[in-house]
Amino acid sequence: MKYTITDFRKDYATENQCLDRLFQLKYGKLEACPSCGVINAKFKRVPKRRSYWCTECNHQLYPTAGTVFEKTTTPLTHWFYAIFLFTTTRNGVAAKELERQLGVTYKTAWRMAKQIRLLMSNGPVEMLKGEVMIDETFIGGQEKFKHRHKRSNVDGYMKRIPVFGMMEKGTNKMITKVMKVEEIKAAHLRPIITKSIDKDSIVVTDLFRGYMGLDKEFKQHETINHAQEEYVSKNGFTTNNIEGFWSSLKRMIRGTHIHVSEKYLPLYVNETAFRYMNKDKVDTMFNLILKKVS
Ligand SMILES: [Zn+2]
Repeated sequence: MKYTITDFRKDYATENQCLDRLFQLKYGKLEACPSCGVINAKFKRVPKRRSYWCTECNHQLYPTAGTVFEKTTTPLTHWFYAIFLFTTTRNGVAAKELERQLGVTYKTAWRMAKQIRLLMSNGPVEMLKGEVMIDETFIGGQEKFKHRHKRSNVDGYMKRIPVFGMMEKGTNKMITKVMKVEEIKAAHLRPIITKSIDKDSIVVTDLFRGYMGLDKEFKQHETINHAQEEYVSKNGFTTNNIEGFWSSLKRMIRGTHIHVSEKYLPLYVNETAFRYMNKDKVDTMFNLILKKVS
């Protein structure tokens, strides 16, 4: 079933509802009060504070302690709504958009967006296996061809930045890396590939020289000759999924953010990967992000 804005509005209309959710995520499995040790102790809200008190010993628990919400005076309803937006959009959310929709300052909106992107960043992914597509793309770099007034910064154009990626077919699990142009070669890519993908996998790539010799490292290496307008290998393998991912990433950067600095590019790549892996599962994404908070 789809998690809609109507569901969201019902679930998280008030500060209390949001805080209750955080409490449930952080302390839901608590068997005893951490202070008095009473089994199944009851906790109640402390009015006007972001805390709950144990009805046995008065000890207080703060569900936002140690989270991105701890020091913020921004209402939790704002945070929750911003997270909801990030999980429902296809092309990302610009800080400007948060500023407009929430009525917060640009600075606050920018900080919130950055924090949410960090929460969307996957932690270390286990080794990819099965069928794995390997590919690289370049972000930016074409802006010098645009009219001067359309360029995104005074330097003229956004630097051309390579992004390297490996995607497990079926799960869309990904390992990505923002790189330097001179690193896009076999000597640099090979160790990353062999460290990230199980030896018994089938790897699928194009004919780029950096991928030559992978047949010696893996069970099977399928190649696709893009130069010959070939999109399926002789045995029926493709890299379509990872190419779709690059398109999403570029659409988000071009359409929503226009310019992304090298420093923050990994965050945008992770954000797109997170969304790609959990495609069409808004409630799953929403809950995954909240779980990461607590
Ligand atoms: Zn207690």
